Amino acid sequence: MSKEAGQRQLRRLPAVDEVLKDGRIAGLLAVHPRGMVVEAIRASLAEERRLILIGASSNKDLEEQCYLDLIINKTLTVVGKSAGLKLRPVINATGVILHTNLGRALLSDRAKQAVNRIASSYSNLELNLDSGRRGSRYAPLESALTSLTGAEAALVVNNNAAAVLLVLSTLAQGREVVVSRGQLVEIGGSFRIPEVMAQSGARLVEVGATNKTYPDDYRRAINDNTALLLHVHTSNYRIIGFTRETTISELVDLGREFSLPVMSDLGSGSLIDLSRFGLPREPSVQEIIAAGADVVTFSGDKLLGGPQAGIVAGRKNYIDQMKKHPLLRAIRVDKMTVAALEATVQEYRDEQGAVQKLPVLQMLTAPISFLEEKAADLAGRIRMVGAKAEVAVEQGVSTVGGGAYPTAELPAVVVAVAPAMISAGDLQAALRQGDPAVMSRVQGGRLLLDVRTVRDQEIPELAAAVGKVIK
Ligand SMILES: *Cc1c(COP(=O)(O)O)cnc(C)c1O
Repeated sequence: MSKEAGQRQLRRLPAVDEVLKDGRIAGLLAVHPRGMVVEAIRASLAEERRLILIGASSNKDLEEQCYLDLIINKTLTVVGKSAGLKLRPVINATGVILHTNLGRALLSDRAKQAVNRIASSYSNLELNLDSGRRGSRYAPLESALTSLTGAEAALVVNNNAAAVLLVLSTLAQGREVVVSRGQLVEIGGSFRIPEVMAQSGARLVEVGATNKTYPDDYRRAINDNTALLLHVHTSNYRIIGFTRETTISELVDLGREFSLPVMSDLGSGSLIDLSRFGLPREPSVQEIIAAGADVVTFSGDKLLGGPQAGIVAGRKNYIDQMKKHPLLRAIRVDKMTVAALEATVQEYRDEQGAVQKLPVLQMLTAPISFLEEKAADLAGRIRMVGAKAEVAVEQGVSTVGGGAYPTAELPAVVVAVAPAMISAGDLQAALRQGDPAVMSRVQGGRLLLDVRTVRDQEIPELAAAVGKVIK
């Protein structure tokens, strides 16, 4: 394409006003804000301008009418993508159940209904209906969480990072917190134990070596200015080989000896033992409480399978202090979180029910035979839509993600797609940019669709999305 031809093409692009006047756009203007439609037209024009400049415009006729049609179609697509909202559903075919970039846990039906009911209705969020007086938004969750975990008291905040910040600010501001060198974790970029510690005004005292920390290491660090002994679950890595971690029970003994509280930041904090489903044995929140930890923190949207939240469970005298801390107001949960979390926690009244009804636990415990059926269904549908590709069902591995079970590899069943005309990488990118957007993996020149995290109702859509790119 010569430079002149490119310039000619650019001149034939319609003006924004011209597009707006078209009857097809009038339909959009009837249901969407004008500013949003104008923005979509501008984006479509900018995209086409870019394609012309690199000689990749699909309009080879250089007709003005063709350009008008092209821009209108692009605009309709842009606005049509979930009504123009930037936050939209994604099909997760990565097999990573707790994918932080994809929003972590999916809510159960019960939790979804609870959010729905409370979101668009007034509620007794901070009202005691018996007395007519002001109530606490934390109360309903507190009773559910204490009966479940065995803790004396509980508090819920915006996320687990905020929970850790609140505990440290309340119990250790201006004083020392003793932590093992092997537990100074970073979780996803901005949450690092040393930095949260600095933010809280507590002073970090590191003890032991990266691979070994003994109770005596803590003992030697304790002085008059020590406020807290902290144990952090190494959620996203494992130190293996020549290692020694001081256990919670050993820390609790030390805490009793020196009258110091012991905190355990569990991160993913599971409420049930999942080892009978072949997952590694991890201590549950109940076990840590029973072992005598004074304060335990964990996330609502990791293994618990609920909304984003941070849960603090532990002794009443410490939780009471946290309830009075000015920071609490800045990190408090909103009504939709309270609704979803209360409903999620209710599922745990029956352990079998929780495994069946919470999507995170369903996915985590799905039997291979079930995954094989789902994969066969998906593969069949991809072949049926006429995708130009080799399609095979194979065994693979996936991880849990979200800082849970760092060393566990789950057996996976994947649909492997080797496209005939384009590369697997191009297919992956096209699926990501499609509507619905699909996230997948590429390995050895093939696209892998891991069905563990794909919901049943998404299978037809997913097959159609693949067919659309490589038919
Ligand atoms: C995930 C995690 C956090 C942060 O929790 P968020 O809910 O993501 O804020 C803190 N500590 C540990 C050990 C974690 O695994």
